Amino acid sequence: MKLLKKVGLISFFTLILSACVTTQQMNAQAASQYNQVKQQASAQGALDTSSSTARRVRAVFNKMKPYAEQENTTGVPFQWEIMVIRSNDLNAWAMPGGKMAFYTGLVEKLNLNDDEIATVMGHEMTHALKEHSKAGANRSAVIDTAFAITQAVVGDVNVGGYSGLGMLKAYGLDRPFSRSDETEADELGLYLMAKSGYNPRAASQLWIKMGKATGGAGGFFSTHPADSDRQANLEKWLPKALEYYNARR
Ligand SMILES: [Zn+2]
Repeated sequence: MKLLKKVGLISFFTLILSACVTTQQMNAQAASQYNQVKQQASAQGALDTSSSTARRVRAVFNKMKPYAEQENTTGVPFQWEIMVIRSNDLNAWAMPGGKMAFYTGLVEKLNLNDDEIATVMGHEMTHALKEHSKAGANRSAVIDTAFAITQAVVGDVNVGGYSGLGMLKAYGLDRPFSRSDETEADELGLYLMAKSGYNPRAASQLWIKMGKATGGAGGFFSTHPADSDRQANLEKWLPKALEYYNARR
């Protein structure tokens, strides 16, 4: 994947988010931009509402949603929503306030089962729940998805050469969160999938598949912990996750 291009594009549109933006403001902004992205995708015929992949993704999302909301400690209820985008990209993301997208390529190219879909879903839901894009003073700049997408939409009008779908590709990507944010998304995502009734043993295989598909560098989750660290962590967290999972049986 053209990571450098994406990172460059994202940096280009990066705005420094002032610290006084409230969760309500951020979520409302995200929701507004999410609707624009959805309209764009729809206009391009890229919104998948009917395929078996879309139905499966939606089913996992719906099952996990109430458990995700139980983990919401932001003080502001989320308006959870997911869209499935028809694209070959290995991609999934969640915006502040619980607005999410899953790309068909991720599910179909990696041949994900429901437990593996739930692994990614839990990871992305945790980024939103922990407001990682808000607190993310992790790199040289604070990157906020919602604001970035505002710029993307503007850019789509003003800058030649970028199709709407190109913008979707550029902005959907799991952004460069800090390593600790990524580890937190892995851990709490694992517990979340388990609480929702998905087998946490699937997480290890999912990340191996992902690592192979992205060549370990570049593309989706390129900023995530090295595979060996991640596998060691998953092993460490698995007993607790299995307790949640088995409690449902
Ligand atoms: Zn992540």
